[in-house]
Amino acid sequence: MKVITIKNLTKRFGEKIAVDNLSLEVEEGEIFGLLGPNGAGKSTTINILTGLLKSNRGDIEIFGKSFNSNEMNIKRNIGVVPQSLAIYDSLTAVENVKFFAGLFGLNRRELNEAVEYALEFTGLLEHRNSKAKNFSGGMMRRLNIACAIAHKPKLVIMDEPTVGIDPQSRNHILKSVKKLNKEGCTIVYTSHYMEEVEELCNRIVIIDHGKVIAGGTKEQLISLVSDTQSLEVEIDELESIDERSLKDIPGVKNLNIKENSVVINSIREVNNLDKIINYFTSNNVSIRNIGYKKMDLETVFLSLTGRKLRD
Ligand code: ADP
Ligand code: MG
Repeated sequence: MKVITIKNLTKRFGEKIAVDNLSLEVEEGEIFGLLGPNGAGKSTTINILTGLLKSNRGDIEIFGKSFNSNEMNIKRNIGVVPQSLAIYDSLTAVENVKFFAGLFGLNRRELNEAVEYALEFTGLLEHRNSKAKNFSGGMMRRLNIACAIAHKPKLVIMDEPTVGIDPQSRNHILKSVKKLNKEGCTIVYTSHYMEEVEELCNRIVIIDHGKVIAGGTKEQLISLVSDTQSLEVEIDELESIDERSLKDIPGVKNLNIKENSVVINSIREVNNLDKIINYFTSNNVSIRNIGYKKMDLETVFLSLTGRKLRD
C-alpha cells in the first residue's frame, strides 16, 4: 500500500521555485530517504506534506486519501519531527510530550502511557523532570522526536533530525529510527548526510533545486555510475591542489575535496592511476595513503549534478 503519493508538486516563493514538479511515492513499512543538499527543497516538500504550507500545484495523497478532505484524520496518524526544534524551553520533558500528545485527544491514562513510551524510546526517562532549556543539543533533538511519536503515529516524517548534534545522540537517533520502523511505522527521513541515508533507508530519492534527480534503492542509485571509479588520495596540503590540472588528466570526471583527502572520480575504462600519482609527486605533494574506494551516494550526487552534497 502507498502511504504517500505526491504528484507534480510545485511551490514558488516569489520568483524562487523551491519545489519543481516533484513526484514521489512512499510504500507502507519503508524507511524512505529524501536526500539533497541545503536548499534542495526538502523542508518545503515536508511542510506541504504536513499541511504547514500550501503548494501552488500538485496532488498529495496520504494513506490513500487526499490531504484536504481528511486533514484531521491524517494528522492523527502522522508524527512530524521538524527541522527547527518545536519544544518549549521552560517546560520539562514530560510536560513537553504531554502537551503535544495531548493534542490528539487521548484520555489521562493513555496520555501517561504515551509520555512514558516516548521518553523511554528516546532514552530521556531519567531526565523526565528536567526543563528542556537545560538539555544538550542532542537531548533537545531527542525530545523533539519524543513529542512526535508519543501518539503512536503510523507515519513519521523526520526533517534533518540529527543536524548539529554529538555522535552519541546521533547514534541513538539512528537506532531509534530503525526500531520505530521494526515496530511497523513507515518513516520518511530527510537529510543532507549521505552516510545516514545510506545506513537507514531502503529507498532513496535524491533531489536538487526542487527536482527529483534520481530514485531507487542504494544499489540502483550506485549502478547509475557503474562506469565510474573513485580513487581517494590522502594528503596533508590540500591547499596546494590545483583542481584544474587534476581535472585535465584523461578520464577524470570530477573531484570531491574533503578534509584530509581528495576523491578523484574517473571513467573506469581509462587507466590514469600513474598520471594521477605523477601529478602529486611532480608537485611535491606527499601522498599519505591512496586507494580505490567503494562507490557511495556522495559520488552519485556529484556525478549527476556536478555539485557536492555539502558545500
Ligand atoms: P532544504 O530543506 O532542502 O534545505 P528548503 O525547502 O528549506 O530546502 O528551501 C528550498 C529553497 O526555497 C531554498 O532556496 C530556500 O531559500 C527557499 N525558501 C524556503 N522557504 C522559503 C520562504 N519562506 N521564503 C522564501 N524562500 C524560501
Ligand atoms: Mg531543510
